[in-house]
Amino acid sequence: MAEAATNRASARAEQRPITALRGVGSALAERLQRLGVTQVQDLLFVLPLRYEDRTRVWPIGSLTPGTRAAVEGEIQLTEVAYRKRRQLLCRISDGSGFLTLRFFYFSAAQQERLTRGTRLRCFGEVRRGPFGLEIVHPEYRRVLEQAAPLEDTLTPIYPLTEGVPQGRLRALIGQALCELESRSVRDWIPPQVSEPLGLPPLKDALTYVHTPPREAQQAQLAAGRHPAQRRLAFEELLAHHLTLKLRKRAAKTDPASPLVDREGLARRFIAALPFRLTGAQARALRDVDADLAASLPMVRLLQGDVGCGKTVVAAAAAARAAGSGLQAALMAPTELLAEQHWRTFRNWFQPLGLPVALLSGSQPARLRRSALETIASGELRIIVGTHALFQEGIEFAQLALVIVDEQHRFGVQQRLRLQEKAQKHGCFPHQLIMTATPIPRTLAMTAYADLDISVIDELPPGRTPVKTVVVPEQRRDEVVARIVTACRAGRQVYWVCPLIDESDELRYQAAEETATALAQALPEVRVGLVHGRMPPAKKDEAMLAFQAGKIQLLVATTVIEVGVDVSNATLMVVENAERMGLAQLHQLRGRVGRGTEASTCVLLYRAPLSELARERLKAIRETNDGFEIARRDLELRGPGELLGTRQTGLAQLRVADLMRDADMLPRVQETAELLLASYPDNIAALAARWIGSGERYGRVG
Ligand code: ADP
Ligand code: MG
Repeated sequence: MAEAATNRASARAEQRPITALRGVGSALAERLQRLGVTQVQDLLFVLPLRYEDRTRVWPIGSLTPGTRAAVEGEIQLTEVAYRKRRQLLCRISDGSGFLTLRFFYFSAAQQERLTRGTRLRCFGEVRRGPFGLEIVHPEYRRVLEQAAPLEDTLTPIYPLTEGVPQGRLRALIGQALCELESRSVRDWIPPQVSEPLGLPPLKDALTYVHTPPREAQQAQLAAGRHPAQRRLAFEELLAHHLTLKLRKRAAKTDPASPLVDREGLARRFIAALPFRLTGAQARALRDVDADLAASLPMVRLLQGDVGCGKTVVAAAAAARAAGSGLQAALMAPTELLAEQHWRTFRNWFQPLGLPVALLSGSQPARLRRSALETIASGELRIIVGTHALFQEGIEFAQLALVIVDEQHRFGVQQRLRLQEKAQKHGCFPHQLIMTATPIPRTLAMTAYADLDISVIDELPPGRTPVKTVVVPEQRRDEVVARIVTACRAGRQVYWVCPLIDESDELRYQAAEETATALAQALPEVRVGLVHGRMPPAKKDEAMLAFQAGKIQLLVATTVIEVGVDVSNATLMVVENAERMGLAQLHQLRGRVGRGTEASTCVLLYRAPLSELARERLKAIRETNDGFEIARRDLELRGPGELLGTRQTGLAQLRVADLMRDADMLPRVQETAELLLASYPDNIAALAARWIGSGERYGRVG
């Protein structure tokens, strides 16, 4: 009790508005707010992006282009020149060489002060200019005496916001650091946690990162691996993890309708399937069933590599909702995928006497109106659609289950809007969120701490791994010949068209031209085309024809990347594969190898390959395993889209880095439990410090 009271008291002591600092008026305070700074203490948590070493002055003669360095010299000449643009040139010398300072923006007063003979200390990036080495827009100041004192710490470079110059921000943070001496910031992590981890106390960590001594290991700092940085990263990860956990807890106090499948639809659905569920699918479905039977809302992430069969699990859950007289909606990120799911669901549910509605943005008004009516009346219990599902004017009779496919394609906001639609009579919907994003378990448990997680870690039996070959563009003819062979054997083929960055228009044009050219080259093959710009009816027609085998070769843009499922397709050709990311290639390749036949993916590339492209193609050729590909992708370019964490709060980390700091995650999770159990009063302060007062996450679940 006493502890809690002190915590609250010192939390209050930390609440000093930023305007309490000398020289901070309301205008500056407003600008600082954009950096998340409202309290004096917040300044300490604006952390440097990097450091510069201004602790020594370099002889001008020793400079090389590309380095960032401090130099000192006397002005030889200052002049305004007109080369394309008006500019101020100022030449300095220190006896070892000359350096030009170039300013495109300058005031008359500034120009006047840069008189011949003035000593300047400058800092900036040295580059090669028309008259030898130069620095464009250096930071500079006049020095009066010969041996003006140098910086004795590395210089932090902070993230900027408009109207708060670097120097000003640095000075403000300096003031906050001075206060650290007299008013301590509260360390919300108990020492029994931080000490065994070898992490310094908060105050030491803050002082170090804002003012690292000149002998600091700069490489370690740049890599973010100094214990002071790790201490802060730990705290940040902890704050996010706790916020997500609390959000989950809060969700678990909301009421939801338990789904009791009186009509036995889910059971009948599973029994009627032409295949048996894999062990992993059955386990995931058991998790889902247990959640759905409860009167608390399910918030479950269903994770599994492309082709593992997530859709069946979702369909079983939807059948259960329908069987209990309520509605289920499945939201897909593209119309193509929504339509495909709708067809799949229709095939599965028609025998059970369950109609399925489709809602997409491009539906004819008449169809849409009748769909809306049956959805509002509750007559239709299973609804498939794109984000059109949560638009104005759509009323559900009682939506009890929300299923989101390919979650990484949606923003958190979109998911929330659908959830809001479903909130009726104080009841919250169950949510099943599906993703093919392979993300290691410890990472998932942190990034998705607000969700329960089920993993499908097994592919349906009888799949032969896709063979991937990398072929230069010059051998395109051989590849085209392969298409004939595949089609003669009764198989089908995807041809994925190059990515053209310039414009969508060109991309579609290229797809059309490729389709025409291939149709000419392959008179015996029935060629179809699908791209995002086609009228929906045409797109639909092409997909249906491909699914029915009427089209043998489908030329497509990357619209087919997510979800498309035609198991007779056994050959995929990807043009300009060198331009695509690993995640995208893996997703695309997931369109083949869906049946029992052996499949091949041909990656066509145009030379010369960059180092990165070469590594990517090597990785995709060597493995089919999504987790392994994710790992390599991280190695190659750092945590990116593949992680799928962009849509989570963890995308906004300030010091922490999920991959780099992954080793701390188990301890972060343990510490979160400890704080929840023994130091609950520390949590709000910790969250406020790192995340703000919760507005970044909003109310979720
Ligand atoms: P994803 O997880 O990538 O969404 P899908 O749900 O599209 O995968 O399933 C891929 C293919 O595997 C579909 O054609 C589906 O019908 C089939 N499938 C799913 N589960 C099984 C299973 N247990 N046995 C055989 N085939 C299955
Ligand atoms: Mg899918």
